[in-house]
Amino acid sequence: MSESLAHKAAALDAADELAGARKLFALDETVYLDGNSLGALPAHVPARVADVVTRQWGELRIRSWDESGWWTAPERIGDRIAPLVGAGPGQVVVGDSTSVNVFKAVVGAVRLCGDDSRTDILVDATTFPTDGYIAESAARLTGKRLVPLAPADVPAALGPRTAVALLNHVDYRTGRLHDLPSLTAAIHEAGALAVWDLCHTAGALPVGLDAHGVDLAVGCTYKYLNGGPGSPAYLYVAERHQEAFDSPLPGWNSHTDPFAMTADFTPAPGAVRGRVGTPDILSMLALEAALDVWDGVSIDSVRAKSLALTDFFLECVESYVPGGLVTSLTPSAHASRGSQVALSCADAPSVMEKLIARGVVGDLRRPDVLRFGFTPLYVGFGDTERAAAALAEVLAA
Ligand SMILES: *Cc1c(COP(=O)(O)O)cnc(C)c1O
Repeated sequence: MSESLAHKAAALDAADELAGARKLFALDETVYLDGNSLGALPAHVPARVADVVTRQWGELRIRSWDESGWWTAPERIGDRIAPLVGAGPGQVVVGDSTSVNVFKAVVGAVRLCGDDSRTDILVDATTFPTDGYIAESAARLTGKRLVPLAPADVPAALGPRTAVALLNHVDYRTGRLHDLPSLTAAIHEAGALAVWDLCHTAGALPVGLDAHGVDLAVGCTYKYLNGGPGSPAYLYVAERHQEAFDSPLPGWNSHTDPFAMTADFTPAPGAVRGRVGTPDILSMLALEAALDVWDGVSIDSVRAKSLALTDFFLECVESYVPGGLVTSLTPSAHASRGSQVALSCADAPSVMEKLIARGVVGDLRRPDVLRFGFTPLYVGFGDTERAAAALAEVLAA
């Protein structure tokens, strides 16, 4: 049985049009299924970062703000991310953490709504905690009421009191994919604004921000975009909202003429308005270099491979792991599945520890969830079969 799945893996790897991308990354024989937490290092990035440090900073020094394109990096890199999330140019700006961008987006959305009779901010109750903490503070600051609820209950809760809904495209714990087009349409139908968190989808599947009329969105760049630990996040403000977007964090970098150094704040036009202070150039330019791996890659083929990988992993787990030892929390329907598989089991912390010792790296979400992230650019079907076999071994021991 194990032999037939290993053969199937070899055939799938041989037919994989993205298989060649793996050599772009610094990887060893470890089966790395944690790219949904920290993407692997693209192999060319160290030399690019070394150039930024030694030549741009070390030799050109202050001249690099202009000559090395440091000053315009946030918008330039935003435009590199834009096609991956279905955004036209000029709407995505890179900088700050996801948490900070959630704050800008939620407060900004409340201000765009501008209707005092709309008292509620809806938030996904199962969200990655930072989004919930920040939404709560944003609600208090803007005098709104925070309404945490299961994403499935959002449509029924929408109404004339809704100002803003902050939702996750994919649930970080279960890997469930939410229906962005229909939820966005329902939010608009109710007269409210939709803010989406794309942390677990950018670089893993098509998002279609412009096509679905999303108002604002945020996401990180160190998961499926491989930008490196703590690489800066991004903010999307749809073009139609940019002129009215009133950032709660207006800094000198979002001023229309930063070097005028005026006491009055006049916001810059376009995506620049989403900036705050001096960009963190070293991590930003590491991210810019990392984005080269997307040249010529279609996000539709990434999605097709992601679904094939997670299907195959579930098939191998089903075949290798005795019934009842693990339960998948990840929906089996493709339309509801992101690019990870979450399995619950007894003694999950010790199971993950033993898997890692066997060279299969996933992660743990306490108390009982094993998370396996599938990054189509560098995870293969052979890796996937080996991960399931190692899991079966650990659970049998
Ligand atoms: C990873 C993740 C974050 C991370 O926030 P940071 O401010 O970048 O640490 C936020 N929200 C979601 C949904 C995430 O998955």
